[in-house]
Amino acid sequence: MMNADRLRFAPSPTGHLHIGGARTALFNWLLARKHGTTLVLRIEDTDVARSTRQSIDAILDAMEWLGLDYDEGPIYQTDRFDMYREYVAKLLSEGKAYRCYCSGETLEAKREQALASGAKPKYDGTCRQLQEADESRPYVVRFHAPQGGQTLFNDLIKGPVAFENAELDDLIIQRSDGTPTYNFVVVVDDATMGITTVIRGDDHVNNTPRQILLYQALGFPLPQFAHVPMILGADKTRLSKRHGATGVMAYRDMGILPEAMINYLVRLGWSHGDQEIFSREELVRLFSIEQVGRSAGVFNPDKLIWLNSHYIRCGDPERIAGLLVPFLTAKGVSATPGPYLHAVVRSLQERARTLVEMADMARFYFLDGVDLADDVVEKHVGSEMLSPVEMLAGRLETLELFDAEHLERLFKGYCDETGIKLAKVGPLVRLALTGAASSPGIFEVMAILGRERSVERLRRAIKELGSTVAPQ
Ligand code: GLU
Repeated sequence: MMNADRLRFAPSPTGHLHIGGARTALFNWLLARKHGTTLVLRIEDTDVARSTRQSIDAILDAMEWLGLDYDEGPIYQTDRFDMYREYVAKLLSEGKAYRCYCSGETLEAKREQALASGAKPKYDGTCRQLQEADESRPYVVRFHAPQGGQTLFNDLIKGPVAFENAELDDLIIQRSDGTPTYNFVVVVDDATMGITTVIRGDDHVNNTPRQILLYQALGFPLPQFAHVPMILGADKTRLSKRHGATGVMAYRDMGILPEAMINYLVRLGWSHGDQEIFSREELVRLFSIEQVGRSAGVFNPDKLIWLNSHYIRCGDPERIAGLLVPFLTAKGVSATPGPYLHAVVRSLQERARTLVEMADMARFYFLDGVDLADDVVEKHVGSEMLSPVEMLAGRLETLELFDAEHLERLFKGYCDETGIKLAKVGPLVRLALTGAASSPGIFEVMAILGRERSVERLRRAIKELGSTVAPQ
């Protein structure tokens, strides 16, 4: 890899940004940033029927969420049709491509014949030698592919790859409606954009020999190729909806942090010893295409959650607070970033594995009052703890410094005096404050809620439970 390198990411906007596409984008991005070279974003929208503005926006949003910026683009192939046409004309005039007038029905009949006789269906070359152009009849333009020999390339990941030219068809490079086809425009674009290394998914490896032949016919220098192994589900079949969400943005909506997603994606195919956790800076420094493995990556949602827990735990509370707000809003909680929300986040960083979980766990901090979960009341609370909590509520009112440390001291002092165990009184306090049987530490929770709300919640619970709970 050299400084003059130019890389590209070339998604087709026919859906969301898939996990595999995001990984391809990431690998390109990492190399471009590592070597200080140029990354081009090219939107491959020649399939006009399947490409949508919505998909383009979805791809751009996903790249922004992942922090994958680019130096040139987005460049749209639909803006370049005139140029593609010029290159088609060039190949036609040099006899390297020809007009094919075979009708769809004829081709289909021949295909079926070939299949019936056990042969591999292939264009039979009927129009290859036609001299006259007849613009009045519909035609496609086919590439006049060499009939013999091999096409070889040295893949940066897979090593040497060879194809028999006899296996390759006379590829259609322009459809009857005048639009150019994928393999042709990719070559014209990569060559005219000066792309030096093409990094893309393994699903394109069969296209590469066809593209190499087109490079040669057009007189373009060849780039290097690196085909990244596919991503499989746990059952070792190709990753699909059956294995869970396949679009990266679905993971944002599940409360995954972008840094966890990046760390997860990079390890689907690349490794650096046994290391699992990588900062972005480390990745830029350490990543290399030579360390991308040849075997398929296996998608493992548990690992993604594990990484996410790590990044939530270690993340800057203020940043996480900002990311949490929309998740709170979705749960009907309106919160604004500020010291209160930061404290809430800090209290949950050790516990929440996703932002969705964190928003769930954070709700009680924002409600006017909590509902006491019946099952918790039944299981954990007996009437004999009501008066100790009443006493404690009284003491809280006069506690000088209302922070976790002083609260803990107060509770311990009370327990020493009375012989009541903290483990006995704690569950009722927790239930009163949070409505639940588990939460961050009760002293931390009270410190965050503040004196007034803590006392109010304790008193309200005592009142509510006074008439309902039985002695334990
Ligand atoms: N547009 C193609 C795709 O999304 C990628 C083409 C390439 O990288 O050469 O699969």
